[in-house]
Amino acid sequence: MQTPFEIDERWILAQRGAKNPVSAQRAYHTLVEDERTASGTVEPVATLFLTNSECPFRCLMCDLWQNTLTGPTPAGAIPAQIAAALRELPPAQHIKLYNSGNFFDRKAIPPQDLPAIAELVRPFKTVIVENHPLLTDERCLEFAGLLKGQLEVAIGLETVHPQVFPLLNKRCTLADFRRAVAFLVNNGVRVRTFILLPPPFLELNDGVLWAQRSIDFAFDCGVDCCAIIPTRTGNGALDALQKAGAFTRPDVRALEQVTEYGIRRGHGRVFADLWDLEGFSTCSACFPARAARLLRMNLQQSIPEPVACDFCDPANHR
Ligand code: SF4
Ligand SMILES: [Zn+2]
Repeated sequence: MQTPFEIDERWILAQRGAKNPVSAQRAYHTLVEDERTASGTVEPVATLFLTNSECPFRCLMCDLWQNTLTGPTPAGAIPAQIAAALRELPPAQHIKLYNSGNFFDRKAIPPQDLPAIAELVRPFKTVIVENHPLLTDERCLEFAGLLKGQLEVAIGLETVHPQVFPLLNKRCTLADFRRAVAFLVNNGVRVRTFILLPPPFLELNDGVLWAQRSIDFAFDCGVDCCAIIPTRTGNGALDALQKAGAFTRPDVRALEQVTEYGIRRGHGRVFADLWDLEGFSTCSACFPARAARLLRMNLQQSIPEPVACDFCDPANHR
């Protein structure tokens, strides 16, 4: 595949701007939102974006480094962040402990803090953490054993495009992803995954097609749930690629198309990531209806009637 730059870790790092100021004593963001559960109900899920050391991987599309510490996470900081967040947030039944990296990276989450973390999340039915395929091993099972609730691990698949996947600098292979999912599922841990729409280096139409293929691959590996992430600029690398014509921004219609495809397949839950969705709108007339339609897809896992628009439907522009 032709790329405008020699893409390696040095190039990715050279594109970066400054980090945001963060504190080891506070999660940098928290929220509670409804989510369709594996059992088919809709229940509140708390998401804690924990502040910890920077991820040692340097994926091309990643912007999570922006809210990380420069050194290792101090022992005790993560339990303190979780305790403070839980005091302030409204009640929820499930919790995502997202840490801008990998939960089983010992520099990010000191292993001696895992029992205290497990104790803090005892009230939750599901505990969802992010992890890399190469860090997926006995450590996950030990943590699962400390929990009262169900452990679910989120692993980024991004794309199964054979030429694009290696360019993402994830330092693993699709076989590693499959192995990690099988290891977790065979040991009673649920898995969700993230899929990019579109990955860099593909036009949007191809990006839609490869997101659909990635959903099929993920479910074939045994994941329980796919989240479709509209790919965002802002991390430096994707901005440079966009400028060079090697990255196409997604739009809301493409997100509807891929989410619809995944739900119709019927192999597991498929969610559209709705964060900052308006930034992907191409028509203000129909955006509210499309956003509401995507939210219904997420919560009901069914396909509402398509949105018709007098302004942007191709049929009205003949
Ligand atoms: S493994 Fe995750 S957090 Fe680390 S660089 Fe890749 S996408 Fe970012
Ligand atoms: Zn429209």
